[in-house]
Amino acid sequence: MKVPCRILAVAPLFLLLLFCSWASPAPDDQFSMGHSKRHQCIGCVLVLSVITQLAQVHNSTVEASMERLCGYLPGKLYLKTTCYILVHVFGSDIIKLLDADMNVDIVCHTLEFCKQDAGQPRCHLYPLPKEAWKLTQEKARHIVKKSTAMKYLRSGSDICSLPFLAKICQKIKVSIQTSMPLKDADSDKYSVFPTLRGYHWRGRDCNDSDKTVYPGRRPDNWDAHRDSNCNGIWGVDPKDGIPYEKKFCKGSQPRGIILLGDSAGAHFHIPPEWLTASQMSLSSFFDLPTALTDEFNWPQLSGATGFMDSTSGMEEKSIYLRLRKRNRCNHRDYQNISRNGASSQNLKKFIESLSRNQLLDNPAIVIYAMIGNDVCNGKADPIPEMTTPEQLYSSVTETLKHLDSHLPKGSYVVLHGLPDGTFLWDNLHDRYHPIGQLNKDVTYAQLFSFLNCLQVNACHGWMSSNKTLRTLTSERAQQLSNTLKKIAASEKFTNFDLLYMDFAFKEMVEEWQRRGGQPWQLIEPVDGFHPNEVALLLLAELFWKKMQLQWPQVLGKENPFNSRIEQVFGDQGGH
Ligand code: CA
Repeated sequence: MKVPCRILAVAPLFLLLLFCSWASPAPDDQFSMGHSKRHQCIGCVLVLSVITQLAQVHNSTVEASMERLCGYLPGKLYLKTTCYILVHVFGSDIIKLLDADMNVDIVCHTLEFCKQDAGQPRCHLYPLPKEAWKLTQEKARHIVKKSTAMKYLRSGSDICSLPFLAKICQKIKVSIQTSMPLKDADSDKYSVFPTLRGYHWRGRDCNDSDKTVYPGRRPDNWDAHRDSNCNGIWGVDPKDGIPYEKKFCKGSQPRGIILLGDSAGAHFHIPPEWLTASQMSLSSFFDLPTALTDEFNWPQLSGATGFMDSTSGMEEKSIYLRLRKRNRCNHRDYQNISRNGASSQNLKKFIESLSRNQLLDNPAIVIYAMIGNDVCNGKADPIPEMTTPEQLYSSVTETLKHLDSHLPKGSYVVLHGLPDGTFLWDNLHDRYHPIGQLNKDVTYAQLFSFLNCLQVNACHGWMSSNKTLRTLTSERAQQLSNTLKKIAASEKFTNFDLLYMDFAFKEMVEEWQRRGGQPWQLIEPVDGFHPNEVALLLLAELFWKKMQLQWPQVLGKENPFNSRIEQVFGDQGGH
């Protein structure tokens, strides 16, 4: 199990974590020192913005609003404790600086969470202060000249090296490690825990002690005595002695859904309430521990594999729930194999976590949806880092060969095209980011330029004021989509049929506008990059409709026993 984001939980200002998965790709080297430093800068600027805005909203002191923010945090994972300790360490410096009318950028530079590297521009979120930066910063430095926290940070630069923090850092580390279920990754990938890659990500295990029991397998002896495939259907009908699984599911062509995706597929989401001082309350951070242990993803609400009711009031269901409705025998057969930062180039690092036994399991619909990271990166010059059509062709055919040797016969693989992300800048650049709404002082254009300056923008190519760059990024995305289309048209495999589907971007926006919505409402407000829950469910709807129209065989038949199954087994054990 990879832990970089979780290890960062011990790093200063837990909110930095918000950005560890958002802004940057999954590859193992992403948390190199320089990278996490840059995230510290974003974390500092955002947290201090929230603190000053809380003071403003409640007409209170900076000290009181720091206490207030800590008070809002849940006790789990030492979040509240860490917050109070951080206030203890940095509080007096922060108070002094903010009381001297230093802006948040200056404070974060003075406390050295933000650093200007030699030869690099100075990165700031807010407009530059009226007085010259240098002069202001000298004043600020003078204010915290005798600070103990600063002395430690300068010497060790790791907050856990502060003597009174070492213990708590250790405790947090242990608490996070022990909350991870220990398991043999090869033989048992299903879990009875929701987070840490548990059943939020793939169908809940119904017998954690028996490795032959898991969602998606073909029933063992028609599940006469136990529910070997966890679909909630088992036992024998006392009226005629026929096992229910045989009666209701035989010949129904059951199948599962597997997503090979990126952060969009896993539904990366940072609730705007976490940054909106005017709405912040005790309930705002209720979901933070869950989010932390799910890498800030919400696959349980995603368009492909979501199984929980939409939080956005959408009637549309995920692809998984539609497959389940079509055939109740498919209950719990979903896998969300997605990673933040995943692309065609790094998929091989985690494709092994896909679980399908070619001999024992039902066929699957695999959706390959790497929709951004092949063209998105945070480099100052993003173009050379983008995947080329040749590289894509070769890595995708490798992936398909791997799938051909793992998927049961009769499966389907759908290659999903890339969107045109010029949409992001066009619809967001002059709107206010959640952190800028109170004082109308931070637009998305400012946020993007701050992230680009720090070289941690999730997608410099599209989230940039440079129109030529945005156009070039879209051109590459189009070339990559064409490559996927070409692969689907030319390559043949033994165990699955291969299809290509365009990213139904235009249709999605049009459908939303038809309902009276605005295009910007389809984008995650905090990161200004990911499709939000509404967008994901609209895309799922369009995916389903297109399948029904063009390739209904992919979805399988409607099971005539669905209502009988519901009668006998109710919610089939829930999710
Ligand atoms: Ca069963």
